[in-house]
Amino acid sequence: MTPTLPALAVLAALIFTEALSALARWLNVRSLSLELPAPLRGIWSEEAYARSQRYLAASTRLGLAREGFSLACLLAFLSCGGVCWLDGAARAAFPGEVGAGLAFLGALALAQALLDLPFAAWSAFVVEARFGFNTTTARTFVLDRLKGLGLAVILGGALLAAVLWAFQTLGGMAWLAAWAVVTAFSGVLLVVAPTWILPLFNRFEPLPQGDTRQALEDYARDEGFALDGVFVMDGSKRSTKANAFFTGVGKRKRISLYDTLLDKMTPEQLVAVLAHEIGHSRLGHIRTGFWLGTLRTGLTLGLAQLFLGWGGLQEAFGATRPSIHVGLMLFALAWQPLALGLGALSNAVSRRFERQADAFAARAPGGPQALAEALKALSLANLSNLTPHPLLVALEYSHPPVLERLRLLAAHGPGPRPSGAA
Ligand SMILES: [Zn+2]
Repeated sequence: MTPTLPALAVLAALIFTEALSALARWLNVRSLSLELPAPLRGIWSEEAYARSQRYLAASTRLGLAREGFSLACLLAFLSCGGVCWLDGAARAAFPGEVGAGLAFLGALALAQALLDLPFAAWSAFVVEARFGFNTTTARTFVLDRLKGLGLAVILGGALLAAVLWAFQTLGGMAWLAAWAVVTAFSGVLLVVAPTWILPLFNRFEPLPQGDTRQALEDYARDEGFALDGVFVMDGSKRSTKANAFFTGVGKRKRISLYDTLLDKMTPEQLVAVLAHEIGHSRLGHIRTGFWLGTLRTGLTLGLAQLFLGWGGLQEAFGATRPSIHVGLMLFALAWQPLALGLGALSNAVSRRFERQADAFAARAPGGPQALAEALKALSLANLSNLTPHPLLVALEYSHPPVLERLRLLAAHGPGPRPSGAA
């Protein structure tokens, strides 16, 4: 690599972003308080609170080591002639520009995944296991990675080939064509993921008949919400952590509850969770989220097109002749600070949506109390960080911290109908 000013600027952008993210994590651990927050006394024990802090410290240490190692490998690759060597090898193997580009970017992605593998294993089998979360077997761990690799090759490869081809052949308007392709692709994925992709990783079964299912179906019916089904997902295959999520569009909207959630919540609390999810749908959050993501993709691709015209930059990193794939790789690095900023912006929007969905759920039969109890149970099951640092919240939190959600729910008062009333 030749240390020209533009080349150094690209590296500085990358290092700045990593440093800011590391600073947020470090501040987060530093700001832990020893006293169990009042709203969670009685649900959380002092012992669980202390354990959640040890868990946070251990996972933060691993995360910092993981990101530091990945950054060091990348910097070594860039500064030791890696671009020139890999570009040469990709061109020798595939004569066409698109083929060489796929090989170049594919090899980088594969190398990154392989370098990360020991950290992923350490996370599951050491850190998560030490705190009693891990239930992943070695077989599931390996199969997950193989399935992920297969999907990346088939879906990621096809999408990347289309984008490379567009930038290679369509001139100044390429970013628009690439934007259309990526948007269509995400739209299709949104529709087919629940039926084709998620079942590759988990089993989904209809929730058995009983009080819980009855309560959930009654609530959806009273709300006039067309629910395609209530499913139980075998989340316990990988972790004891619990969650619930919504999938599908149009008439095929389903709620999926982790099996690990069912024994931790009462039917009334699960109704509050469903009400929160229905709130997202009713308030247009899912649609708005999709279009905001689309806008962000357009901005990224438009800037990528401008960036590709930056003369001399690729040569500074050792490319013997400029290409779309080396340009896109460098763009991905230079783009990091802006991506972090846009991520923070979209997290701020998401947190706002979460507060609105909570307010919607506060009007469900159990009132704000039912959702508050559900959130408390969830925070304990997952040993959530109760006092995250504001910088980390701003950068990475898609949901408000649990104490903020509890405070807002408490401000709603006891709710329309007291718990247990008909
Ligand atoms: Zn939500």
